[in-house]
Amino acid sequence: MTNRTPIIGGNWKMHTDLESGMQLAGAIVDYVDALTNDDEEQPVNVVVYPPFPYLQAVESITGESSVLCGAQNLWTEEEGAFTGEVSPLMLKDVGVSMVLTGHSERRHVVGESNALVGQKTQRALESGLDVTLCVGETIEQRTEGSTLAVICNQLTEGLESVTAETIKKVVIAYEPVWAIGTGHTASPEDAQSVHASIRAHIASIFTGDIADSIRIQYGGSVKPENAKDLFACPDIDGALVGGASLSADSFNAIIQASL
Ligand code: PEP
Repeated sequence: MTNRTPIIGGNWKMHTDLESGMQLAGAIVDYVDALTNDDEEQPVNVVVYPPFPYLQAVESITGESSVLCGAQNLWTEEEGAFTGEVSPLMLKDVGVSMVLTGHSERRHVVGESNALVGQKTQRALESGLDVTLCVGETIEQRTEGSTLAVICNQLTEGLESVTAETIKKVVIAYEPVWAIGTGHTASPEDAQSVHASIRAHIASIFTGDIADSIRIQYGGSVKPENAKDLFACPDIDGALVGGASLSADSFNAIIQASL
């Protein structure tokens, strides 16, 4: 890793309940706050993404700390007749500061297109939220050799409306679909190679300086046992963690591995 501050996200997906979510958040806050002196720069940024109904309760715990409260999804409009959707303004209203767009379960279970992911990214940024844009190939795409073409398209469309100014509010998460929730992690060499290509593609859309400063997380079965080797790669700036973020012990150990 270079001088980019690592960023570790915990995507709780559709797990936890009110009580266990608040306990989990409390244990993460205690751990992260003990890592930082008031007058020092934070050594790592940590974001938790609870389910929508628990955002406000979790934010009441993270709000006074350096841990950020994020949302797993949003809608493309700020207000209106969109039954069942959640607006970026509502997220901001309850203290959310970051949102995931393009998570593989949104793309492949719900069917979100690259274009919709781009619209969500645009809306989130325009409404003042930071964004973690997730990209990644399926096993079929990897096998047929189209990994980089798929990811470059996801980046180009996902960042369609993003400017040299608003890109500062974006983190990229590379999450090979075949590694999410399967226990199969990309090797550090494979992950590093894709991260370097993502950085090169960002340079081609924006500038080399922007590509150097953007943070690219790896996601896909990250655990305390494999985190250190992944974080040792020069283009891997942290992790987006699913399963292992549901236990404070394993999530905090992953945070520790990034330091
Ligand atoms: C994720 O949901 O973004 C993820 C990477 O999940 P897991 O760590 O369980 O593979």
